Amino acid sequence: MTGPDPAVGLQRDRVLVVPLLLALAALAGALGWLAVREAGDRVAGNLGGTMATISAAVACYRVSRLAGADRPVRGFWRLWSASATVLALSTVAAVLRAARGDTGMPLYEAVPTLISLNLAMLAFRNVPLAPRTRLDWARLLLDGAAVAVAGTVFFGYVVLQAIPDGTSLVTRAAAGVVGLGCLLALVVFGKAAVSPEGRVDAGALGILAVCPLAGLGAVILFLGGTETGMLLLSVVGYPLVGLGITAAAYRQGRVLHGTAVTLTRRASGTFTDPLQFLAVAVTAVLVIMVSARDLDLRGRAVIIGAVLIAAIVVARQLISLRENTRALSGIRRQQAELERLALTDNLTGLPNRTGFGIALTERVDAGLTATVLLLDIDDFKMINDTIGPSAADQLLLRVAHRLQESVGAGESVARLGGDEFAVLLPADDPAGAEAAAARFQATIARPLEAGDQLFLLPASVGIAVAEPGETADEVLRNADIAMYAAKEAGKASWARFEPRMRQDLTQNARLASELHDAIQAGDLRLLYQPVYDLVTGRMHGAEALVSWQHPVRGFISPADFIPVAERSGLIVPLGAWVLRESCAQLARWQIEQGAAAVEAINVNVAVRQLREADFVDTVAAVLGDTGLRSRNLILEVTESSVVDGPQVAETLRLLHEMGVRLALDDFGTGQSSLSLLRAFPVDVLKLDKSFVDGIADGTDRGRLAVAAAVAQLVEFLQLKSVAEGIESRAQLERLRDLGYRYGQGYFMAKPLPADECGALMSAAPMASVTSG
Ligand code: C2E
Ligand code: MG
Ligand code: MG
Repeated sequence: MTGPDPAVGLQRDRVLVVPLLLALAALAGALGWLAVREAGDRVAGNLGGTMATISAAVACYRVSRLAGADRPVRGFWRLWSASATVLALSTVAAVLRAARGDTGMPLYEAVPTLISLNLAMLAFRNVPLAPRTRLDWARLLLDGAAVAVAGTVFFGYVVLQAIPDGTSLVTRAAAGVVGLGCLLALVVFGKAAVSPEGRVDAGALGILAVCPLAGLGAVILFLGGTETGMLLLSVVGYPLVGLGITAAAYRQGRVLHGTAVTLTRRASGTFTDPLQFLAVAVTAVLVIMVSARDLDLRGRAVIIGAVLIAAIVVARQLISLRENTRALSGIRRQQAELERLALTDNLTGLPNRTGFGIALTERVDAGLTATVLLLDIDDFKMINDTIGPSAADQLLLRVAHRLQESVGAGESVARLGGDEFAVLLPADDPAGAEAAAARFQATIARPLEAGDQLFLLPASVGIAVAEPGETADEVLRNADIAMYAAKEAGKASWARFEPRMRQDLTQNARLASELHDAIQAGDLRLLYQPVYDLVTGRMHGAEALVSWQHPVRGFISPADFIPVAERSGLIVPLGAWVLRESCAQLARWQIEQGAAAVEAINVNVAVRQLREADFVDTVAAVLGDTGLRSRNLILEVTESSVVDGPQVAETLRLLHEMGVRLALDDFGTGQSSLSLLRAFPVDVLKLDKSFVDGIADGTDRGRLAVAAAVAQLVEFLQLKSVAEGIESRAQLERLRDLGYRYGQGYFMAKPLPADECGALMSAAPMASVTSG
């Protein structure tokens, strides 16, 4: 499925369109009836109200059940559904009233109306009403009080003076209470609509305000008591209210489906201010009217003067309000600009991590489908070190442009930092996401020019589909985990997140912490694998290999825990210990074995160690402390660490200058290139075991050719060659024939404890090696 299915959206819309159409029909019917009514037949005219309010109850109920609405919103519409249902009872009462020819508002109609109004007000309980500070509360109270006082004065005066005689006290009281209730409802609706934290759509709240307004109109008509007024009130009033509620529910439904725009930015405090001024104006008009009737000229002058002064003060207030609003909108503009800056990456202009997080959160929280692609350029650090940060920035800018050019509809790109970009896809199908990953990879991978150089920027991509119930943070973290899996799988590739990756991650984390403890507790040991001279059969050297006897898991191979140590940084202290311990061991052998001791010890070094600024000093200190010379030490590094960047290259150069020899380990498996051998001060090449494996039977001609070529290269460059992983006599002989002088492997000796290895040094030359 790609994005919200429009067909489903339409169908969901339809469940709300039907009540809306019914409510419209009810109002149209009522108006139509008014035009052609037959005197005396009021029952038919009153039926429109029932139809409209039932439609409203159904519409509100359906909105309250929509997926995507959060709890307060659901509760709000449930209460409105209840309110509309009770109002439907009022309309039935109105039909009854019409049938009996009752005048005034009988209790059986007034009571459900009041209950309905209360339910509607109750709905606002969970909808935040803006106030948070004490000042906000004071403002809300004053707004309410102003409206209540004006309402009471207005109704009191109208109820007392303008109602035809004979209207019952119950009717007056009911009308007065309903009217006042409507006014207060307007205040509450208004406050909720402008609340910046409101969950219910502000547009829907605006439409709902039709209800108290219609209620007010109804009360005025009702109290006027004229025949036409009463007719309008009971025939049009209810359908209008019903339609208002239905339309509001419809609007909310569309917002929840994402088919209408939410009014998220609500201007606070703009709704109730006019209402307050209206309250003042109404009271002033009443005061003038009363004084015109009851007072003499002097009295009237005083009243008019007072009202005028009040009007002037109000006008003055209006002007300062205007000024404040203008100042406020300036501040808001600045705030919006600051917000924009906070969400944007200033190099590329793309959204930054925060901006991306917000966009993702909005989708995920709304229950919409989402997939995150996390793109990280491979080995960008090296490019950065080589061409310098400002040229590297230009490259990143070009990458950003390319990504932006290739986004599809509904997709968005962000720069999360450094060489890391993210794409948000509005879908959740894995195949589509993988296709998109390949597309973006291809976009970035086309050669890029910076200065006069061409660059190839392969990227690794992690894909994470948002699963139901996952937070934006979790989705982003999953994409990150997948991206690292892609890098580990050999870079320039993509990987889709799978829960097992997280398990691997926790397992690795546990391994790292256990490794940390093991280092502290001294549970790691060094074994030494002899290196033999394949011509003389004598032991020529020894390679130190770290081993871990885990109390529960038993022997753990360095091939498993060295990568963990590299990622966690533990390799730095671990490697320092290996270096010191193996040098100390060679010093002991020199004392024990005298001239029979091997000349040099081979120590493996990880790239992470070479990046340490003080690595050269560490080596020098170890040599000094153990009394070794620099030619007693051979450091084994892999091809990938040699090309890590200028800093590592400089470290290797300094070591070489010191006289420490360097061996290229696992040669032939990495990016072996001749230029590497020229640029890097290498002394020893160690042919990887994989070439040795297939060499004896001669079936793997390709590997044989490489092994032969490496032997010639070594001779030509006057290097030393060591073949790794020799397991049979046939392999050994073949290698010797090819020109390999040295070798190590289980055929001669496995990695051994120090004393066993030492004993082999003074043993007779190994017959199985020499006797061909
Ligand atoms: P490596 O440096 O290439 O070491 C040679 C590996 O091949 C060792 O595995 C050794 O036991 C194994 N090996 C030697 N001869 C044979 C053979 O005939 N057949 C087979 N099947 N294997 C043979 P090990 O000890 O498991 O070490 C694996 C890797 O872990 C090493 O590969 C090295 O890259 C790394 N490592 C070991 N110790 C250290 C260390 O102290 N520091 C660092 N940075 N890496 C280390
Ligand atoms: Mg090695
Ligand atoms: Mg090796």
